[in-house]
Amino acid sequence: MTARIIDGKAIAADLRGKVTDAVHRLLRDRGIATGIAVVLVGQNPASKIYVHNKSNAVTAAGIRPFDQHLPASTSEAELLDLIARLNADEKVNGILVQLPLPPQIDPQKIIAAIDPAKDVDGFHPLNAGRLARGLPGLAPCTPLGCLLLAKSVHASLAGLEAVVVGRSNIVGKPAAKMLLAENATVTIAHSKTQDLPAVCRRADLLIAAIGKPEFVRGDWIKPGATVIDVGINRIAGGGGKSRIVGDVAFAEAAAVAGALTPVPGGVGPMTVACLLLNTLRAACAQNDLPPPSI
Ligand code: NDP
Repeated sequence: MTARIIDGKAIAADLRGKVTDAVHRLLRDRGIATGIAVVLVGQNPASKIYVHNKSNAVTAAGIRPFDQHLPASTSEAELLDLIARLNADEKVNGILVQLPLPPQIDPQKIIAAIDPAKDVDGFHPLNAGRLARGLPGLAPCTPLGCLLLAKSVHASLAGLEAVVVGRSNIVGKPAAKMLLAENATVTIAHSKTQDLPAVCRRADLLIAAIGKPEFVRGDWIKPGATVIDVGINRIAGGGGKSRIVGDVAFAEAAAVAGALTPVPGGVGPMTVACLLLNTLRAACAQNDLPPPSI
């Protein structure tokens, strides 16, 4: 079998187009401008690239950016003060604080200070609790992207055996809760799981969010399964260069799986598209409008 490659770039571009149309309609028909504040503290090179990409996507979607770039020396009190001002600012529908933060700032305190209605990263404990209860709320962007990619392959996820490898609060756990809400039968695997290959082999839908390059091998995959690879790992390539690989050994997996996301070009573009979707959803909810039908 040769897996169908799930084109995350194309699916993300389609989603971004739909969000852009809805953002423009909101402004044209109701006079509501959608806005987001992306907050970067310090000069972490990877964070700067992520924030740059997010800001470009925000502007391209017609969402107003209220970006805040603060020095690495910013105190926790100063950042909390900024969050309070952004919470109170009606022009700002979404607030995203790029992680990691400098060591003097407790990220949990900052996340908890964001108004849950503006928490477009979906990390606030209230939104995590709503997701756990199966209630509507803002859900984390990366697992939301995984879900949309899985749904691009399966009209329904109901009854599928789903295995999520990884139990972080930003990917693995929320992904599992979303799959449960879609009526999949969900297993969460992690570093203490025994016989991980056998657990993975049960999966009709396998989500790998581990952070270890090419860790999931081809013979861990059930023939015909759908594999969503969240991993982003930089490894040494030829000629002193580096390259990005996922958590799944791509060539091996492609020979067994029914459908597979590439890295790059799979989950990554969906994360940014889902941030735009969450910002639109937040703007609608804050204006007592129903969620956009996207
Ligand atoms: P974390 O490091 O927070 O979590 C990794 C998870 O993998 C943990 O639950 C850990 O288990 C589990 N794990 C580690 N080693 C093993 C092992 N040997 N066997 C089984 N499970 C193991 O990572 P994140 O969830 O934040 O990210 C995961 C990957 O996804 C990374 O490569 C990251 O770069 C990428 N990522 C990609 C995004 C995108 O937009 N595409 C966004 C966010 C992340 P335990 O809990 O027991 O330690």
